[in-house]
Amino acid sequence: MAMSEEKSLNFIEEIIENDLQSGKYDSIVTRFPPEPNGYLHLGHASSICLNFGLTQKYPGYTNLRFDDTNPATEETAYVESIKEDVSWLGFTWKNERYASDYFDQLYAFAVQLIQKGLAYVDDSTPEEIALQKGTPTTPGTDSPYRNRSIEENLDLFTRMRNGEFPDGARTLRARIDMQHVNMLMRDPILYRIKHAHHHRTGDTWCIYPMYDFAHGQSDAIEQITHSICTMEFVPHRELYDWLIKQLEIYASRQYEFARRNINYTVTSKRKLLQLVTEKKVTGWDDPRMPTISGLRRRGYTPHSIREFCDRIGIAKRDNMVDVGLLEFCVREHLNQMALRRMVVFDPVKLVITDYQGEEWLNTENNPEDPAAGSRQIPFSNTLYIERDDFMEQPPKKYFRLAPGQMVRLKSAYIIRCDEVIKDEQGVVQEIRCSHLPNSKSGSDTSGVTVKGTLHWVSVKQALSVEVRLYDRLFSVEDPTDESADFMQYLNPQSLTVLPAVYAEPALSEATESERFQFIRKGYFVLDRDSSPGRLVFNRTVGLKDTWASATSKK
Ligand code: ATP
Ligand code: MG
Repeated sequence: MAMSEEKSLNFIEEIIENDLQSGKYDSIVTRFPPEPNGYLHLGHASSICLNFGLTQKYPGYTNLRFDDTNPATEETAYVESIKEDVSWLGFTWKNERYASDYFDQLYAFAVQLIQKGLAYVDDSTPEEIALQKGTPTTPGTDSPYRNRSIEENLDLFTRMRNGEFPDGARTLRARIDMQHVNMLMRDPILYRIKHAHHHRTGDTWCIYPMYDFAHGQSDAIEQITHSICTMEFVPHRELYDWLIKQLEIYASRQYEFARRNINYTVTSKRKLLQLVTEKKVTGWDDPRMPTISGLRRRGYTPHSIREFCDRIGIAKRDNMVDVGLLEFCVREHLNQMALRRMVVFDPVKLVITDYQGEEWLNTENNPEDPAAGSRQIPFSNTLYIERDDFMEQPPKKYFRLAPGQMVRLKSAYIIRCDEVIKDEQGVVQEIRCSHLPNSKSGSDTSGVTVKGTLHWVSVKQALSVEVRLYDRLFSVEDPTDESADFMQYLNPQSLTVLPAVYAEPALSEATESERFQFIRKGYFVLDRDSSPGRLVFNRTVGLKDTWASATSKK
C-alpha cells in the first residue's frame, strides 16, 4: 500500500535521521527488553515493530535482551515463548542477551560507586526508606546510614553478597540528593537482598540489582544508541543519565513513547496472568487473549499484526486503539490469502429432485489469488444449506431461497424451490428443488441471472467439524478504568462452540498454517485441539468490515 511510503517520519525516526546526518552515529543499535515474567501481548508487538523496524530502515541492529533481574517471577518457559513470538512476528535479533549475563559487571559498577562515595549500604527498613523519601511537594530526609565510610560500605556490601543478611535487612542506595525535585533521585535503591533461585544464575546471587541499576547499564554494555521505552520511564531518565555519567560508561540515550492500549481487552502481563491462573481463559494462548500466542492460535498473520502496529504508529500521549483496526488489518490480509471453503453451520436438507448421481465440480481456491489453484467439490442431489437461507414468506428484495424463487448454488447450478416439507410443528424438514442443467458455473448457457448465491455441502461427503466463535473478552471498552475490578467486565459470551457443523471434504486436509475463508461465514484456522477424526476451527474474524463502516460515519 502506498500509505506507508507517504507517511511522515515519527519523532524517533526524526531523531535518528538527525543523529545519522550529523555524524553522531554511522549506525544505530536498539534493543527489545522484555521481562520474562509472562507472554508477549499486543502492546509488546508495538515495541517490537518499533525497535526492529528502525534497524530494518536504518543501518544497525537490534538485540533481544531479557530483563531478568527479578528472580521470583521469571521462568525459562517465558523466555522460550518470547523468542518464539518475536521470530513469528518476522524479526531477527542480532544478539540474545540477558541482564543476568551482566551481574558480575553490575556488581563491579556498584563497588565503583561506593568507592566514589556515591553509594551506601542502608540498614533502614522499607517503611523507613519510604518515609525518608518525602512526597512530591515535600523534600526527603537523609538516612542515618548515609554517611558511612567507604570502607564500611564496601565491607557491608561484600557481606550482603556473601549472604550474611536476611532478605530486606539492608539495601545499597545511590547517594544523590534527598531534597531532589525528582523523587526518583532521592537516593534510589540499587541493590536488594533476595535469597531466591534465579532461572539462569541459580543460587550464585542473593542480591539483585533494581531495574534502574540494570537497564541503563545493560544498554551501555551493549552500546545501545537509542534505548526506547514507554512514557512511565520519563522520570527515570534523569537517574539513567546520572548513572552513565558517574560510571563513565557508554552514553546510551533513553527515548520514550506512549503505551498502546487496545479497547475491550487488557494489555498488562499481570492482568493476563490473573485470567490464566483463575481459569477465565484456557491459557496464555487462548484465542481470546491479546497475547501474540493467542492471536497466532486465533489465526492472525504476522503481517496483519505488523500492519496494525505500523498504522497506529507511535505517539507521545497515552491513547486507546480500536480493536476494530486490528480486525480490519487481518481481514484485509486474509481476504488476499485465505483458501475459500464451504461450511454449513445450521443445516437444513435440500433435495434436487431432477438431478441423478454425483459429480465433482472444479472450483477456484481463491478468486483473489489465481496461484492458489483449484479444488474438487462433490455435488449430489442431497445437500445441506443454511436454515436461514430459506424463507417461506420472504419480504421484498429477499434474494435467497423461497418458494418459486431461484438462486445459484455456489460453483454449481441454478435451482428453483418447488416444495417445502415441514413437520407437525411447522419446522422445515426438507426443501425440494429442481435445477437448470445448462446453468453450471463456468459453462452457463441458461441465460438466467439470479441475485442470490448460496453455499452448500453435499450430505454424503459432509465432514462434521467443530467451530469456535469468539467475541470480545471484555464487554466494556476500558476494563481497567479502576471503577471496578476488571474481572467483573468479562464478557460471558466470549466463546460460542458449535460442536458439529458440516464442511466440504477438502477441509479434512487442513493444516494449522493454512488460512480459510468459510464462504459467507468468516475467516477460520485449524486449532491445535484437533485430532484426525475431530477437526476444530477457530474463527479469526467475521467477514464484515465493521471498523471501516463505523469510522466512515464519523
Ligand atoms: P506489562 O505491564 O504488561 O508487564 P511491561 O512494560 O512491564 O508490560 P516488559 O516486559 O517490561 O513489560 O516490556 C518490554 C518492552 O515492551 C518495554 O520496552 C515496554 O516499554 C514495552 N511495552 C510493554 N507494554 C507496552 C504497551 N502496552 N505499549 C507499548 N510498549 C509496551
Ligand atoms: Mg515490566
